Amino acid sequence: MWQANVLTIFPEMFPGPLGVSLAGKALAAGAWKLEITDIRDFATDKHRSVDDTPAGGGPGMVMRADVLGRAIDGRAADSCPRLLLSPRGVLLTQSRVETLAAGPGVVLICGRFEGVDERVIAARGLEEISLGDYVLSGGEIAAMALIDACVRLLPGVMGAAASGAEESFTGGLLEYPHYTRPQLWEGLRIPEVLTSGDHAKIAAWRRAEAERLTRERRPDLWAAFLRRFHNSARGG
Ligand code: SAH
Repeated sequence: MWQANVLTIFPEMFPGPLGVSLAGKALAAGAWKLEITDIRDFATDKHRSVDDTPAGGGPGMVMRADVLGRAIDGRAADSCPRLLLSPRGVLLTQSRVETLAAGPGVVLICGRFEGVDERVIAARGLEEISLGDYVLSGGEIAAMALIDACVRLLPGVMGAAASGAEESFTGGLLEYPHYTRPQLWEGLRIPEVLTSGDHAKIAAWRRAEAERLTRERRPDLWAAFLRRFHNSARGG
């Protein structure tokens, strides 16, 4: 079963939002497993300290390598990739999410304070993963986002099996616009093609809209899409 092992100093934050809706139902149904490790359990002093002042001075605190190292070793049997949530990491993408969801699960280490002692990253082979170019106060919300993105791709979790196939990023494009009843809302109509019943025309319209939105909003994705398109046209 796909499992998420989360190492955190705030175990009470879990399952939190992951216990509700799609991910929560899948958790209750046993489609995935959530294991929380309290990093504080691996502290050795009576205050259960997990952090200390930064070497070289400066503001804030740093998570200790010895405590975090022991907490990770408690999970050493896991064959899952060990990921440290970090704003310095590689950006999480849908294709990485797909790879992670297809594997046995993840070990996620949530940083706090100024971050973690650099030595533990190399010594325990942690890969740094970022949610985006902004700074959160801790890795927990980032871990939840990563887990949520993976869990919805697990077999049997999403209602309609097909609803993942056409989504944003999956084909390298942003998703086309959606509409539902009422037909007429505040003088605005659902695009006529969508009520035509002509499935080929609808598919063509959606494809054109997905391309237009990607071109307008995400020149980076659009350029990558065109590169892939031309490569496959050349048979490469
Ligand atoms: N001093 C660090 C920020 C620390 S924020 C710096 O300037 O890079 C505290 C913790 O929040 C980090 O250790 C990390 O686990 C988490 N975090 C913050 N921003 C994140 C992001 N964009 N993606 C993933 N994790 C993040």
